[in-house]
Amino acid sequence: MPARINSIQLPSMTPGSQKQIQWLRFGKAGARPKVYLQAAIHANEMPGTMALHHLMPQLLAAESQGLIQGEIIVVPTVNPIGQAQLVGNAHAGRYNLLSYENFNRNWLSLSDAVAERVGKRLGDDAQSNIKRIRKAAREVLAEMKPVNELQTLRVEIMKLSVDADYVLDLHCDIHAALHLFTSACDWPNGAIRELAADLGARASLCNEPYATSLTFSGVHASLWGRLRDRFAQAVIPQACMAVTVEMRSQFDVSDALGRSDANNLYRWLVRRGVVRGRAQPLPRLLSPAMPMSGMDVGYSQGTGFLVFHVKPGTLVKKGQAICDVIDPASPHGPQARTTYKSQTDGVLFSCRLDGYLSWPGQVMYRIAGAQPLPHRLGVSGLDD
Ligand SMILES: [Zn+2]
Repeated sequence: MPARINSIQLPSMTPGSQKQIQWLRFGKAGARPKVYLQAAIHANEMPGTMALHHLMPQLLAAESQGLIQGEIIVVPTVNPIGQAQLVGNAHAGRYNLLSYENFNRNWLSLSDAVAERVGKRLGDDAQSNIKRIRKAAREVLAEMKPVNELQTLRVEIMKLSVDADYVLDLHCDIHAALHLFTSACDWPNGAIRELAADLGARASLCNEPYATSLTFSGVHASLWGRLRDRFAQAVIPQACMAVTVEMRSQFDVSDALGRSDANNLYRWLVRRGVVRGRAQPLPRLLSPAMPMSGMDVGYSQGTGFLVFHVKPGTLVKKGQAICDVIDPASPHGPQARTTYKSQTDGVLFSCRLDGYLSWPGQVMYRIAGAQPLPHRLGVSGLDD
């Protein structure tokens, strides 16, 4: 059966132009488990789209054999606004040029509206609570009246995702090893541990207990966490496992990687009972979950250009030199350099590229460590 490509029309922002989001469903609407997969909310991050390009034929084949037990929603390029931002022969897909918002911020925190609607009826029956909360979240979204295309994108996309059991938001970094951002309240759920193992994640960073920044995966996880905080007497499970998957570097787009990532995702879908089949052996987990408070974020304190001593995926020691910022005008050789060192033992999982300019406050690299670090000015957690 040929797949039907569905479209969400966004409101026109300028005369003569209108954008649409295309999405696909595999399996039956309403079947469980429900998985929601999207890529390229930062519209110039294409490794996830490449993985979905290779995954969709596998899902089509599974569907034709009746193997899909649950429902799988796929949005290969979720952000046509960012896709269209071609500026001076470059693609600027990370920030909305109209408002300078990061496209992965300001997603909709629904917990207060859901609490008002059903809070008093949440009791000790976990399954009833899950149904009530999902239904209320859908109703809250249905009543929203977005006016512009970005607001509409957020509301319409969350109508597809908000009641999913699993939400995977596929991103990449500038130069990175594959890593995950998730919530500590999700991690005990075996699904994330398995996802990290199946994808070969070199680091998994956990917000504690859930993300407070309104990222796409953050609002899906925190809906349940915030309701638990508010209604302590009720039994409210973490019914949505939401994760930001950073699929290496922006230039890591190839058929070999896309095929491998698609195979890994498919294997995980089988493991979670979304697609019927025999689960393959679970690969070894490469890194345990690390607390966000243990993340060493390397901020530049001056201007210059960057050169790195280590590559993403490297295990580093506390005190090890990570990069230099070089003052281009200084004639004094080694003294022209400011060296930045790791604050922790851990994994360097992302960094900028050699030769990038550096400015005060710029994030140059991130290291996942097991031990919480003292709070430092500017540490804001996820900024993908
Ligand atoms: Zn991103």
